[in-house]
Amino acid sequence: MNLSNYQYIQNYIGGELIEPLSKVYLDNINPATGEKFGQIPNSNSDDVDRAVSAAKKAFPSWSTTTPEFRFKILNRIAELIDDNLHALALAETTDNGKPLWLSKRVDIPRASSNFRFFATAIMHFASESHSMENEAINYTLRQPVGIVGCISPWNLPLYLFTWKIAPALAAGNCVIAKPSEVTPLSSFLLSKICIEAGLPEGVLNILHGDGPSCGSSIVAHPEIKAISFTGSTRAGKNIAEIAAPMFKKLSLELGGKNPNVIFADCDWDKMIKTTLQSSFSNQGQICLCGSRIIIEKSIYEKFKIDFLAGVKKLKVGDPMDDASKQGAVVSKLHFDKVIGCIEQAKQEGGTILIGGNAVQPEGRCANGYFIEPTVIEGLGAHCKTNMEEIFGPVVTLQTFETEEEALTLANCSDYGLASTLWTQDISRANRMAQKINAGIIWVNCWLLRDLRTPFGGVKNSGVGREGGWDAMRFFTEAKNVCVHFGSDAHR
Ligand code: NAD
Repeated sequence: MNLSNYQYIQNYIGGELIEPLSKVYLDNINPATGEKFGQIPNSNSDDVDRAVSAAKKAFPSWSTTTPEFRFKILNRIAELIDDNLHALALAETTDNGKPLWLSKRVDIPRASSNFRFFATAIMHFASESHSMENEAINYTLRQPVGIVGCISPWNLPLYLFTWKIAPALAAGNCVIAKPSEVTPLSSFLLSKICIEAGLPEGVLNILHGDGPSCGSSIVAHPEIKAISFTGSTRAGKNIAEIAAPMFKKLSLELGGKNPNVIFADCDWDKMIKTTLQSSFSNQGQICLCGSRIIIEKSIYEKFKIDFLAGVKKLKVGDPMDDASKQGAVVSKLHFDKVIGCIEQAKQEGGTILIGGNAVQPEGRCANGYFIEPTVIEGLGAHCKTNMEEIFGPVVTLQTFETEEEALTLANCSDYGLASTLWTQDISRANRMAQKINAGIIWVNCWLLRDLRTPFGGVKNSGVGREGGWDAMRFFTEAKNVCVHFGSDAHR
């Protein structure tokens, strides 16, 4: 699989790569150079209709294939993702601006492991039965929902796209999927992989386009029965407004403003190393990043010295260069937003301890969208900087003296996605884990991933859980069958 210099992306509908009926295209920009390098269809409701027709034709036979059949095809897709690691990683980096080493080491391997995991999951997925002593037996069928919509964001493009598509297909659904219009290239390459893997036509349809035109047409289509969405809280709210009155199944994985709580008794070196990652990996553009660092007062000065020394070493530069720890942020729009948030933090009285500026690398990246990793102190818990998601390389520092204070600060957010705790005191870790309002708690680690565990948030971070059996249950409808043993059975 080769990447030519200029990329014309096509929709994947009914097993074919085709032009959009809309005939409208968007520009695809490389954020590391600021250059346009391709065009993306901006599909509309006609394109969605076309995809739904293809999916309807495919559904009856796909939904009744054996688990072994689905296992083989999904596993084949996983193998082909691995075989095309370099091209896919290059696509991800060109679209997104993240370092190529990161795309190779994390994004693409995790995309293939999503397919591999759910390929095997369908071989083990079993239904429950409930016996009513001598009277009857209930068994619960878990049948595919039908045609489902999967919509994903730009920060971990193929990784999050496949995290939805793989369980939906494994459970026997036909899928209408839309990657972010900002990072469409790896999912276009996935279309080619699905054709090569022999996925029957119409089972997976990948449409390209923006939220208002393509995304909302998927959400509003009456024959799409479930929507699995990952993205901003703003778009999640719009989607719920359309989908809820239509009684669609909804899984919404939304924004985060995650606390990273550090107690004085932590394993220091491990904490500093991991906190650098949880603050700035992927330029801070991971919904799970710990953007509010909350530190016990007695270690605050020592923390600042060691943390800032680590931040200083994070080289910002060309994502194609292995030495770059930080690449570009995803777009000019996002660059402007993050720089605006840094300005706002200053106006709110925050002190920039390090960073705070745009970076202009020399050479081919001179016009790219790069921002220094930025650390801010001196802000209260309720200011905008500490309440609103920035989703960039920006963290704030706050201090606490008691466990109760730490908990109050951690929970001082409208979001509730993830939280990290650093302490060697096992009782305290468990106490805090019980009381923090978040869907995911990491103790003495960050972003450790076990695909079997429930993944998702509370409050404005969304509804529903992905991962493991939660995903398989979301993409199936439970139907209980109660069988009576006969008129004499209960005597
Ligand atoms: P976004 O909401 O702008 O877009 C996400 C996707 O939704 C894109 O494909 C977009 O085209 C589409 N979309 C936008 N508006 C839509 C609408 N009204 N109807 C249907 N589709 C619509 O988000 P983004 O900027 O791409 O991603 C960043 C956000 O995603 C951040 O808030 C981040 O926290 C969140 N995120 C959450 C998770 C999680 O698991 N909770 C993971 C990654 C990213």
